[in-house]
Amino acid sequence: MTKRDYYEILEVPRNATKEEIKKAYRKKALQYHPDRNPGDKEAEEKFKEAAEAYDVLSDDEKRRRYDQFGHAGVHGSAGTGGFEGFDLNDIFSRFGDIFADFGFGGFGGFGSNSSRQRVNKGTNLRIRVKLNYQEILNGVEKKIKVKKLVTCPYCHGTGAKDSNSYRTCQTCHGSGYVTRVTRTILGHMQSTTPCPNCHGEGKIITSKCSHCAGEGIVHSEEIITINIPAGVAEGMQLSMSGKGNAARHGGIPGDLIIQIEEEKHPDFTREDNNLIYNLIISVPQAILGTTAEIPSIDGGKIKLKIEPGTTSGKLLRIRGKGLPDVHGYQRGDLIVRVVVYIPTNISKEERKLLEKLDESENFKPENAKKDKNFFDHFKKYFT
Ligand SMILES: [Zn+2]
Ligand SMILES: [Zn+2]
Repeated sequence: MTKRDYYEILEVPRNATKEEIKKAYRKKALQYHPDRNPGDKEAEEKFKEAAEAYDVLSDDEKRRRYDQFGHAGVHGSAGTGGFEGFDLNDIFSRFGDIFADFGFGGFGGFGSNSSRQRVNKGTNLRIRVKLNYQEILNGVEKKIKVKKLVTCPYCHGTGAKDSNSYRTCQTCHGSGYVTRVTRTILGHMQSTTPCPNCHGEGKIITSKCSHCAGEGIVHSEEIITINIPAGVAEGMQLSMSGKGNAARHGGIPGDLIIQIEEEKHPDFTREDNNLIYNLIISVPQAILGTTAEIPSIDGGKIKLKIEPGTTSGKLLRIRGKGLPDVHGYQRGDLIVRVVVYIPTNISKEERKLLEKLDESENFKPENAKKDKNFFDHFKKYFT
């Protein structure tokens, strides 16, 4: 059989855009859709032909080769093998989204096995894990005891007493599916749904496992090892696939969702990946300058020079001493916020000293606007 020209099949011009090609294919696919033409071999061939044309013309590289060399360009010995080997299931699994908008949900019974087989799914399990900043800094492995539904150890999840405790479901004859015909705007549509009698399992348990009452799952506990990466933050969620509750009758277990909480740190507060440390210094230290020792999240202390004339509220940045980024980029900073301590209890002697200072010219508040060091810091309040 001579192959027809792909542009001809889809009835589009040779310079058609991708969107036009998609639209044209959708039109053809709907026209020759097997659900609308049951048992019509010619329609099925046309349906496959349109899919083959779309496969080539929707792919830039294949289309370029087709335009240049014709069918030989896409089906040559070194070519892609073409569409001849494709059956309806391939078409539905590859181009299924094209039909999705048109009420061909579930691909009209031609879907791939995974979408046909109804599988029990276990529920997700949520736990909270509280971490301190040290653990966030380095990442941590936590072993956590989780109460959950697990596969019944007696029946291994089948729910049946033994291998003779089943019979085939008579409603669906063991397939797990029933086919229904419904009317839609596109005509009669055949749809396949899980069997209501056996819930898609194809068999009925005649004698239940007494340990799990036929469910295949039991309440139990499991110790789960969770690897938490460095840099996580309050409110983040990690998910461990398949570590949630087991499903009935040997289905797919749910996921374990781990919600991160942060423990407060006595020295630091966190802002994004930066750590904030409040350094309290005395009035004389603020005026005269000093060397402060700042605790580090890595352990030990960092010496930090406090310049003479440091005002309360000044921020000093120690680069790279914050927490790591969860995506593995660099670490945040340690930000030291200077707080000048103003005592509320003073002796008579101290009072005299302070009154004397208050009369001294350099302590007059009128100087504030002329004092560049001070003014720069408090600029925002003077506008
Ligand atoms: Zn059991
Ligand atoms: Zn059934």
